This record gives sequence, structure tokens and C-alpha cells, in this order.
Amino acid sequence: MTIQENYIQVKNQIPEAVQLVAVSKTHPVEKIRQIYDAGQKIFGENKVQELLSKYENLPSDIEWHLIGHLQTNKVKYIAPFIHTIQSVDSEKLLAEINKQAQLHGRTITVFLQIKIAEENTKFGMTFEDCDALLEKLAQGDFPHVAIRGLMGMASFVEDETQIEREFTTLKKYFDQKKKDHPLQYLSMGMSGDYPLAISCGSNSVRIGSAIFGERNYTK
Ligand SMILES: *Cc1c(COP(=O)(O)O)cnc(C)c1O
Repeated sequence: MTIQENYIQVKNQIPEAVQLVAVSKTHPVEKIRQIYDAGQKIFGENKVQELLSKYENLPSDIEWHLIGHLQTNKVKYIAPFIHTIQSVDSEKLLAEINKQAQLHGRTITVFLQIKIAEENTKFGMTFEDCDALLEKLAQGDFPHVAIRGLMGMASFVEDETQIEREFTTLKKYFDQKKKDHPLQYLSMGMSGDYPLAISCGSNSVRIGSAIFGERNYTK
């Protein structure tokens, strides 16, 4: 299958109301353009350097999402154009995004990343830290960021009941917080688990290999 065919197959499995972020990390500009030409406008990358070169070489109407761990000192490079930073995992990072957005006369959309994986290898904050940050956002402490969602990554395990438990925990928290905060997106689900994530209430999925094929990190 071509990557355009993969893309159409993935699209067909995702309900209309679920946002698809095509995760293009490690894949070249030419492949991204094929998906763009098939109609995809939202792409996700996890490294700042790689994102910068792709941004410069692809159409300007792409909505770029940063989905990987972001160091505070690198926010300034993406602040002029980034649409959404899905991987906000500390107040320090949020404060820097707010500062850089102001310097560029922009508002940057952010999702707070919560650690839901029971294994302890993933980035993300605790529910308690997230509560505190949502309160500060609600008080207007960060006027140049727009909080719009929560992001979580399930454990890399075979056990579907564990993955489902992790997704469901985040969905319950999301529904609770949505009452008082402008949370629109619940970003859960990757190539291996997006049907399960959607059935657990995700409305934004981040899909790489199911569209682009396996990543080759040695290249
Ligand atoms: C790489 C990555 C994805 C996509 O993973 P696939 O399994 O290739 O779909 C999604 N989310 C994050 C945070 C990633 O780093």
C-alpha cells in the first residue's frame, strides 16, 4: 500500500469528530507532502530541530503540533509558528511558552500532558500538578497561552485491560475538569491503540507508523 492509501484507511477508521494528528517524525518532507496533498493539514513532530526544517520546507497552512518533551530553552525557536504544544509538563515550561508567545504577539494553544502509564518511563505530570496548573491558567496567570486539552500516553504493554484502565482514568479526569476549564481535546491514542483510545473517549489521536510505515531511527 502507498502511504496515501494508508492515510485514507486510517481516516476511514476515525469518526468525523475525532481530530487526526499525523505524526511525521523521522519521515522526509516528500512523504509529508503526499499526505498533505491527500488533505491532511495537522502534523505532529517531537524534536525542535527537525520541526524547524520541515516547517521551512512545507506549506504554511500546516498546523504544527509539538508532541514530544520540550526543553524550556528551545521554546523560542518554535514560538513564531507553532500551533499547539501538546506536551506541556511543567509550570516552568508553560511560563516560557507564555513569555515567548507574548514576544511574538501570538497565543499558543497548549495541552497539558499527564502521566497515565503505570510504568514509570513517560513524561507528564500528576493529576495534582495538573489541578494546580489549571487553576493558575483559570486565574489568568498565562494570558498568551490557550489551554485546550489534555494529552496522555498509555503504557507500551500487550495487556489491553491495563491500557483501557489508563485511558479511562484520564477520560474521567478530563470530563471532571471540562466543567470548569475550556478543555476541548482529549489527546490519547497512537497507531497501536487508537481504536481503543477512541472507544475510551479520545477525540484527538496522534498517528505515525500506521500512516507512514515503520520509523527507521538509524538513517
Ligand atoms: C511517535 C509518537 C506518536 C506516534 O506513534 P505511532 O506509534 O507511530 O503512531 C504519538 N505520540 C507521541 C507522543 C509520539 O512521540
